[in-house]
Amino acid sequence: MAVNVCCSSMPDYEEYCREIRDLWESHWLTNMGTKHKQLEEKLRHRFKTENLTLFANGHLALSAIIAAFDFPRGSEIITTPFTFASTTHAIVQNGLTPVFCDIRADDFTLDAAKLEPLITEKTRAILPVHVYGNLCDVQEIQRIADDYQLKVIYDAAHAFGVTIRGTNAAEFGDASMFSFHATKVFHTVEGGAAVYRDAALCAKLDALKNFGMAGQEDAFLVGGNAKMSEFHAAMGLCNLRHIDEEICRRKLVVERYQERLRGVSGIRFCAAAQNVRSNYAYFPVVIDPETFGADRDAVCAALAANDIYARKYFYPLTNCFSCYAGQYEAAIETPVAWKISHRVLTLPLYAGLALEDADRICKIIISCHR
Ligand SMILES: *Cc1c(COP(=O)(O)O)cnc(C)c1O
Repeated sequence: MAVNVCCSSMPDYEEYCREIRDLWESHWLTNMGTKHKQLEEKLRHRFKTENLTLFANGHLALSAIIAAFDFPRGSEIITTPFTFASTTHAIVQNGLTPVFCDIRADDFTLDAAKLEPLITEKTRAILPVHVYGNLCDVQEIQRIADDYQLKVIYDAAHAFGVTIRGTNAAEFGDASMFSFHATKVFHTVEGGAAVYRDAALCAKLDALKNFGMAGQEDAFLVGGNAKMSEFHAAMGLCNLRHIDEEICRRKLVVERYQERLRGVSGIRFCAAAQNVRSNYAYFPVVIDPETFGADRDAVCAALAANDIYARKYFYPLTNCFSCYAGQYEAAIETPVAWKISHRVLTLPLYAGLALEDADRICKIIISCHR
């Protein structure tokens, strides 16, 4: 059977049916109904904050966070190109300019040491990504943001459940976006959330996801539609009951990969961070073609020949996308990210992945070693 990079976790069919049974009585299917309220409450409790707003997906949550800060048009936001398309597009769709900062070679997060030279009088915010669930250098980023009076907005799409010394990833910066897409560790099929420091943002975010309306008769700002439906919230309520167990099962797969691939020359893992509780969202490996004797694309193809589908995640960098052609020189401006994007391979990882499959995957990878 084919092994894909991810396989969405699902509750028992009966559990989901029980969860949505009420909807056949209430006929209230969307627009902040009971399931939506319950999920918002449960997540507020989990994130230890009152300031959490659900969205139809992570991208619209990120876009709404950026819109809520009302940066002047043409403002610059410093961000990373080593991410999913969403991060960069959310900046551009808001009429703002992304400025790309390079990443650290060991954990692939934004390199705070390279931030300051990129700051201009137009810079208004820093938008780093806790990529693969690796927490950014939050202290140093905050220090720089404070020095220059910049907002910090985290793309925490990968960081659900990640904590450092007991502090949740959601507690850093001015705001964070979490994605609850079907491919993420915790999901609502499609969904996302904004978590933020300033309680005053709540009314704005609620309006931005509902046509700018407060009440039924007026729109006080120009907003779109990004509401999470009751069926999606119900999926979230079910998945939340099993999330800790899911993360434990992912951990076993990750440990198996590490055990089998550790010490293979030319293969490197993400640096393990101190005092961090991981969510085991992804298992990227970096393949050095010289020492390993085969490049990333060859390894990816060898796996595919065996019906195993790893992902070149994140390749290409967002500053290499054709929609941004001519605007950036990725290899020169963000050389570390550029190099890693050509060497990284994200291996299949999900709670139900059999350890025998992980073994088979490692065997195929090692068979490419020269
Ligand atoms: C998944 C993802 C998003 C977008 O989230 P959606 O819920 O799919 O809209 C944004 N940033 C990163 C890094 C992601 O992986």
